[in-house]
Amino acid sequence: KPIDVVKLTKAILEPIRESISLSSNIIFISEKETFFTNADEFLLSTILTNLLTNAVKYSRNNEDVIIKIEFEEENILFKIIDQGIGIPKAEQKNLFCSFYRASNVGDVSGTGLGLTIVQDFVDIHQGSISFKSELDKGTTFVVKIPIRK
Ligand code: ATP
Ligand code: MG
Repeated sequence: KPIDVVKLTKAILEPIRESISLSSNIIFISEKETFFTNADEFLLSTILTNLLTNAVKYSRNNEDVIIKIEFEEENILFKIIDQGIGIPKAEQKNLFCSFYRASNVGDVSGTGLGLTIVQDFVDIHQGSISFKSELDKGTTFVVKIPIRK
């Protein structure tokens, strides 16, 4: 059944916002106030929660995270933008491999499965995921989900 992806995204933000330090913020931007499409609520929630949790986890203090929803003719774009630690160029090709964690994570804990799950759930929606990252500057993930009325 169709779900409102804008409302869903807002609902996901709140608990993550409450779990982080007061010095950084999650900024929400959407081109539309509401938008219904056929997607799986649980799978889409899991995709966004994983990417947002990563953005927050791999940021230092005082760095804002932005989540932006944009709309194309046939796709919804979710952009998760951080100004955190980034991913070393040479390691970027390994990112979606199970249990892979980059060498610069320091003492931040994790299993290295989040992005593997995200990739699978994006594939189920016949969508795509891409990212751009620069070490010590930040990372942007873009998830493209086809619109299905
Ligand atoms: P978990 O399974 O708990 O999510 P994880 O966060 O380590 O553990 P993934 O979410 O799969 O695993 O991410 C894999 C690796 O990719 C991370 O360990 C980290 O090195 C890198 N990474 C992912 N997102 C970011 C980001 N926004 N900024 C910097 N590095 C990132
Ligand atoms: Mg993760």
